Amino acid sequence: KAKDAGRNGVQFFDPQMQIAVSSRLTLIGDLHEAVNQQQFTLFYQKQINQYQQVVGVEALLRWVHPIKGIISPADFIPLAEDTGLIVPIGEWVLQQACETLAKWAKTPAKASFTVAVNISVVQFSKKDFVQVVLKALNSSKANPGRLKLEITESLLANNISDVKAKMRELKQHGITFSIDDFGTGYSSLSYLKKLPLDQLKIDQSFVRDIINSLNDKAIAQAVITLASSMDLEVIAEGVETEAQRLLLQSMGCNAYQGYLFGKPCIFEEIQF
Ligand code: C2E
Ligand code: MG
Ligand code: MG
Ligand code: MG
Repeated sequence: KAKDAGRNGVQFFDPQMQIAVSSRLTLIGDLHEAVNQQQFTLFYQKQINQYQQVVGVEALLRWVHPIKGIISPADFIPLAEDTGLIVPIGEWVLQQACETLAKWAKTPAKASFTVAVNISVVQFSKKDFVQVVLKALNSSKANPGRLKLEITESLLANNISDVKAKMRELKQHGITFSIDDFGTGYSSLSYLKKLPLDQLKIDQSFVRDIINSLNDKAIAQAVITLASSMDLEVIAEGVETEAQRLLLQSMGCNAYQGYLFGKPCIFEEIQF
């Protein structure tokens, strides 16, 4: 048992654990290489309004590993955060997203689209985070008003006055903020009135069974009502069926994202 293994409880003989440790080390090595060799791609997923018009996209990161193929962010973002590699990776994501915005600005039909970028707590907490965002906007000449940053409640466990100061500064340039996976964190709701937010994103875990689960429906309704009374936009993620969309619409939700409208795909393949 682990507690017999020594004062610090470390166990050196568990073969399962040995595999976990060595594959983690391999993956860390691979991730360093991925940063140096630019093995990343941004996928985009459409966001739709109540008239079924595209209003923007969310940028979703993929690692195209030379041997393992496409690795999903759920499998490498935590590692990237632990190693600090999320900082250069996140910078690359912002740069790419802003270049996409700049391209769309030249097409009238797409000029008003927003691009939402997921921001890690580790990335946001860096001293120069504001400068990194502004640099991506400046060098691409993208409109800051079209850039939306998705942050999570976990950020609010951090130094809240630092978070607030950075958000305010970015906000002055027109950048908007969405709380991703809303309702799944442990933060208090009081931050909602302290921070310059624009949108709440209903987590897909509440959308998945919304038709059959009265609890999930109640939570989604609470988020929608909260957003509307605080003058925030609300968007539901993980919408897969028309029945889910219709129910959400009847509940007052007027923006959606999910497989119903399209899976995330590369820039060249998005169909509007
Ligand atoms: P998220 O930001 O909450 O993104 C939503 C996830 O749901 C995406 O998974 C998306 O592909 C998936 N999804 C979209 N529509 C549907 C649907 O209808 N049904 C189902 N079942 N799933 C759907 P993905 O792309 O694997 O990303 C997972 C998470 O990784 C993201 O969750 C986000 O937290 C993180 N992530 C993605 N890109 C980045 C990035 O550039 N930077 C950082 N820091 N995190 C990222
Ligand atoms: Mg997101
Ligand atoms: Mg989400
Ligand atoms: Mg999520």
